[in-house]
Amino acid sequence: MITATTASTRDAQVFDLIAKEQHRQESGIELIASENFVSPAVMEAAGSVLTNKYAEGLPGKRYYGGCEVVDQIEQLAIDRVKELFGATWANVQPHSGANANTAVFLACLQPGDTILGFDLSHGGHLTHGSPVNISGKYFRPTFYGVERETGVINYDKVEETAMRERPKLMICGASAYSRDWDYARLRAIADQIGALLLADISHPSGLIAKKLLNDPFDHCHIVTTTTHKTLRGPRGGLIMMRNDFENPFGIKTPKGELRLMSSLLDSGVFPGTQGGPLEHIIAAKAVAFGEALSDEYAEYTQQVKANAQAMARAFVDRGYSIISGGTDNHLMLIDLRTKGGNATNLTGKLAENTLIKADITINKNMVPFDDKSPMVTSGMRVGTAAMTTRGMKESDMEQIVVYIDEVLMNHDNDSRLSSIKEEINEWMKAFPLYQG
Ligand SMILES: *Cc1c(COP(=O)(O)O)cnc(C)c1O
Repeated sequence: MITATTASTRDAQVFDLIAKEQHRQESGIELIASENFVSPAVMEAAGSVLTNKYAEGLPGKRYYGGCEVVDQIEQLAIDRVKELFGATWANVQPHSGANANTAVFLACLQPGDTILGFDLSHGGHLTHGSPVNISGKYFRPTFYGVERETGVINYDKVEETAMRERPKLMICGASAYSRDWDYARLRAIADQIGALLLADISHPSGLIAKKLLNDPFDHCHIVTTTTHKTLRGPRGGLIMMRNDFENPFGIKTPKGELRLMSSLLDSGVFPGTQGGPLEHIIAAKAVAFGEALSDEYAEYTQQVKANAQAMARAFVDRGYSIISGGTDNHLMLIDLRTKGGNATNLTGKLAENTLIKADITINKNMVPFDDKSPMVTSGMRVGTAAMTTRGMKESDMEQIVVYIDEVLMNHDNDSRLSSIKEEINEWMKAFPLYQG
């Protein structure tokens, strides 16, 4: 028999490391824009006996017996997320955001088809056509970007590129773009060339669910997202549509009817790109979607946005320059090249490596038209989702920026860095993460 105690005493090595990681998360300032902290209920579901169950297929249509309970769990996740986003169809099985996108590509594209995405070096994502990702290897990737002067997307130029390249699929959404998207304009462009429009809202999906940003669902044929960023669920992915439609590729059912897009997307996930779904993670998604339907979560997302604006103002006040000049969402990209003083030679790499010495976690990031390599970069990306979960408000964001500035201005002063780290560790005790 396997008991909880034998399992953990048997593997002190792993559980000691987990305890260390928990300590790291609790004692530092977490500013990685793609990270968040889930509730104990989400973790409990993710760590449940559901990990033992095989359930290939969909609720009510499984290839395995014994799925009566997991069917109800997965259906609950689907129903809740449809309510959350005003969608009429959802597949909650993608293991990650990357998997969700790959499943969409498999459903909509043939090898060699042209796709049009947001340039990775301007804030886009690897899965939108990078040459090292399947999206760039199996398809013909083309890109649009931001303007050098404004840091903002010029939709006239997107249109020009789309008319020239004639993509079959256009992708909007990003990992490091702090401005909202004009989905209506993008759809008008897609319609001119008969392209499908995919919105990958992995980063701002929580803010979109709570109507703090433009709604992509009426304009974009398909929407994908991760579940672990602003949405504050377990690590995972998700595909949704507000309006299902007959596939435009002429793919028929055995009865000779055009298959619905939802049916192609379901097949794109399983058996197209995945095997058995992670029902423990799907249960955790259901819990997180339930939480996201609450008023408390609505307040949380408002605070995330208010905190991002306070943080952006604080950076600007200290002489840092933010790409596009500010933020509409939970994140911002800072160009470190323009900060004077002791930091004239600051790079993303130096910032990341120095800030971590004070227990501040950020990630280095390419800025648009960067003159440095992806391993060095001129920028850093920061977001407010995680620290807002810990209960921080606008004034705390200002304090964080004071710390960041002090660390960067003293990047060659190890004793100063370690005293800042101690101050931060002490300060973080006021924002307990997992009590008890
Ligand atoms: C984070 C992200 C993904 C990938 O998510 P994973 O779960 O890491 O695979 C995809 N697209 C965008 C825009 C993202 O920001």
